[in-house]
Amino acid sequence: MPSNSSESELDAARIVQYVTGRRLEPYDRCPECGDYHDTSAPSNGRYDFHQGESGALEITRATSRAAERNERSWNPYLTPHPAPALRARWHLMVDSTARANAPRSKKAGRESGEFLEQVGPALAELERRGVSHAWVESACPSSPWHSPDCPYGALARAGARTAFAEPIRGGAGSICVSVLFGYDDMPAFDGEDERKKEARRQKKQQAQAGKKPVPAAKPDASRLGLVHWSFNPAFVARLESRRDDDIHQEAERMRTLFGDRLPASEILERAREVVDEMIRLAKTMTWRERLPPQPGSRMVDAGTELVDLLEAEFSLYPDLAAKLRRAHPHRTRREVFFWLTWTRSSAWHRLTRHAAIPARAPELPDGVTGIWVGCLTDHTEILYGDTTGWIRHSLTGFLPASICRRGNSL
Ligand SMILES: [Zn+2]
Ligand SMILES: [Zn+2]
Repeated sequence: MPSNSSESELDAARIVQYVTGRRLEPYDRCPECGDYHDTSAPSNGRYDFHQGESGALEITRATSRAAERNERSWNPYLTPHPAPALRARWHLMVDSTARANAPRSKKAGRESGEFLEQVGPALAELERRGVSHAWVESACPSSPWHSPDCPYGALARAGARTAFAEPIRGGAGSICVSVLFGYDDMPAFDGEDERKKEARRQKKQQAQAGKKPVPAAKPDASRLGLVHWSFNPAFVARLESRRDDDIHQEAERMRTLFGDRLPASEILERAREVVDEMIRLAKTMTWRERLPPQPGSRMVDAGTELVDLLEAEFSLYPDLAAKLRRAHPHRTRREVFFWLTWTRSSAWHRLTRHAAIPARAPELPDGVTGIWVGCLTDHTEILYGDTTGWIRHSLTGFLPASICRRGNSL
C-alpha cells in the first residue's frame, strides 16, 4: 500500500498505462526522478501526466481531512500516559468522532479541558468500585441519563466506548487510548478553518463597532451522522499481529464453556474460525445499510454513493478540472484518477463486495472526459467512468515497474 502521495501517484500512472496500453509521461514534476520531463511550458499549474499523444491525466486523493486530522490528534494518546492516581494500566477505546481534546463543559470549567484529565477521575472511581472492564454504554442502568458524578457518564461524554484494566505489579497506573470505530461519517470538508476565519472576522468587526463580541456558533454535532464499520488499516494490522493470542484466548473461553462436551481439537478449530471471522469483518468493512439522507445542506461522507462522492470532490476542488482545461487542444482525452484513502474505503467496498459498478454515469465538470477510481486499501481492481457509464478492470498481470525512463539513460 503506498504510504505517501508520490508513491500513490506513481501507482496510478502504472495502472493507467497497464490498462490502456498508452504510454504515460510525467508532465508535472516526475514522482520518480523529481525532474520535469517536459520543459516546453511554465511548470506551475500543470496536470500530472501526458497520456500518449492525445491525453492528459491528473491524479488526486479523495479523502476526509476531518478524519485524517482527528486520527492525527489521537496519535499522542496511543502510547501509555502515566496516571499516578490509578493502579492499573487502562485501555480505552474511543469513537472516531471523539475529540482528542474534549470540549470544555461550562459547569466543570477548566478541569474538564483535556481528555486524560476528564477520564482519569472516572477510571479511579471504577478502580475504587473494583470494576476492571466495562462497556461504557451498557454498564450504567441510567445510561444515557447519568447522574453528574457517574464515572460511566464521564467516560461516555469523553467518547470512550470500552475501558479495560490490565493489572500491573508495583508501578503506577497509566492510560492508553485506541480509536476503534470507523470514519465513515466524517465529511470531506468540515469547514472548520472557514468557521474560525469567519469568527475572527466578526469579532474584529464588532470590536470596531464598539460592540461586545458575540461567541461564534458551534457546529452541530448531530450533523456528523452515524458511525458505521470501517476500520483504519493500522487497526486491521494490529488484529493480524495478535491473531495467535486472540485464538488462544478464545479457545480458553470456549474450554470453560464447552470443555466437557467438545474435544480440544474442535475447540481450537472453532476459536480459529471466530478470530478469522472477526478479522475478515474488519477487512471487508461490513456495510449493510445506506445512511439516511441528512436534513439541511448536503453533506458528503463515506456513506455517500461513490458517484456522488466523486462529483462532490470536483466541486470542492475546482483546480482538478482547471488543470486539465489548460491541456493542449490536441489532448482531447482529459482524465482524473481518484485514489480513495481508507477514510473513503467503505464507499468502494460497498460496490466491490458485490462486484458491482456504480448505478449511474458520472456528471463530469467542463474539461474532464473521464475518471479513474481506485482504493488505496484494495489493489485488485480499478473503475473507469465517463458519460456513457462505467467499466471495471481487474489488475491481474504485472504492472510496469517504472514510468520514468530517465534512470536507465543517465
Ligand atoms: Zn522522471
Ligand atoms: Zn451513569
